[in-house]
Amino acid sequence: MARAQARSSEEVDRTDDAQVCDVLVVGLGPAGASAAAAAARGGARVWAVDRKVEAGRPVQCAEFVPRLVGMEIADLAEARRQDVTSMTTYIEQADTHDQPHFPGVMIDRASFDAGLVAAAATAGVQCRFGVGLRGIDGGGVAHLTDGTWIGARIIIGADGPRSVIGKAVGAENTEIAETRQITVPLLKPFAATDIFLSAAMPGGYAWLFPKGDVANLGLGLAPTWRHRLKPLLDALHSDLVRQGRVGGDILSVTGGAIPVGGMRRLVSTLGPATVLLAGDAAGLTNPVTGAGIASAVISGRLAGEAAAAHLAGDRDATVDYAEEIEAVFGGSLARALERRRELLSLYVSDRTPTPSDLMKGWIAFPDYWAA
Ligand SMILES: Cc1cc2nc3c(=O)[nH]c(=O)nc-3n(C[C@H](O)[C@H](O)[C@H](O)COP(=O)(O)OP(=O)(O)OC[C@H]3O[C@@H](n4cnc5c(N)ncnc54)[C@H](O)[C@@H]3O)c2cc1C
Repeated sequence: MARAQARSSEEVDRTDDAQVCDVLVVGLGPAGASAAAAAARGGARVWAVDRKVEAGRPVQCAEFVPRLVGMEIADLAEARRQDVTSMTTYIEQADTHDQPHFPGVMIDRASFDAGLVAAAATAGVQCRFGVGLRGIDGGGVAHLTDGTWIGARIIIGADGPRSVIGKAVGAENTEIAETRQITVPLLKPFAATDIFLSAAMPGGYAWLFPKGDVANLGLGLAPTWRHRLKPLLDALHSDLVRQGRVGGDILSVTGGAIPVGGMRRLVSTLGPATVLLAGDAAGLTNPVTGAGIASAVISGRLAGEAAAAHLAGDRDATVDYAEEIEAVFGGSLARALERRRELLSLYVSDRTPTPSDLMKGWIAFPDYWAA
């Protein structure tokens, strides 16, 4: 990548190998690393940048992955920490509902992300950390935080919930949930995802996910109620300490944004560049559960394959990408969005959700899946 002061698109010499690549991937999380690897395996010359100094750190995730991804990703074995078999839902901390079949795996996200980046590098991707995207000009040239710039025929925006690329093409996430999570010692091992639903948690829920001898205890809420994150999480932590399930120590604190507004437009153009969005940048996180690792990996891989096919002359490849993502995720995202909005609308009309309202808004209950 050439070191130069920011230049306008007209000044970029697109024949200069030092400044131009086939595919630029912005963000090296699960979506970006998967996209970059797939595009490179398809024969493209791929560069990827991430503003983080190190792959996967800091971890901003509860680290639960449904079984599906485990079947798709060899690297998962390295990152696996414990299996999960079921889901237990606590409604207002009074009623309890068990869903015996909810298989998945708790992973170490730092190790998972690092494994995906290593696979991308092995496939030939030039990965650069500690360099962010500052913006993209109207000619599709990416301007980086170190003052360099890159021109690419295809740009894959895998830069997370507050995607700069998504914003540049007018397809940014418009609805976000905010989160707070602590890691605590786990005193009584278990193999479920514990979910806590309450009318006091508008636009979200709390979770306790086991990871060997520790657990991730977290809470997500719509931004209007972000001031409740700490007090509600502290109260839940104290309850679980009283029950002897977890220790009182807080081993780490994290948080982050989750896109909850549903799928964005996946394919755009910026000047001569074709732009694809994947993962959180594409709004593929489930608006109810907040789960997005699986969709990030799958959409990233499909975006990378589409980029390589497009470069090889397949004119339909990018449209096919959008259609495939819609086919795989469209239905579940649309349902989750509808359920989330139904529940939030109760707060707007000053109604406190009842336990049945909360159950209709959660995936463990039949009403969630009803027409
Ligand atoms: C607290 C919390 C708990 C969660 N728990 C779960 C869970 O248990 N299971 C699950 O499936 N999902 C969970 N999620 C969601 C999941 O973490 C995301 O869906 C997933 O990380 C999406 O992957 P991604 O690659 O699209 O985005 P990210 O993982 O966000 O990666 C985006 C990358 O882009 C980089 N980046 C951003 N902006 C720029 C820029 N301008 N220039 C360069 N690089 C940039 C970032 O540094 C980052 O590395 C959780 C999210 C949060 C916040």
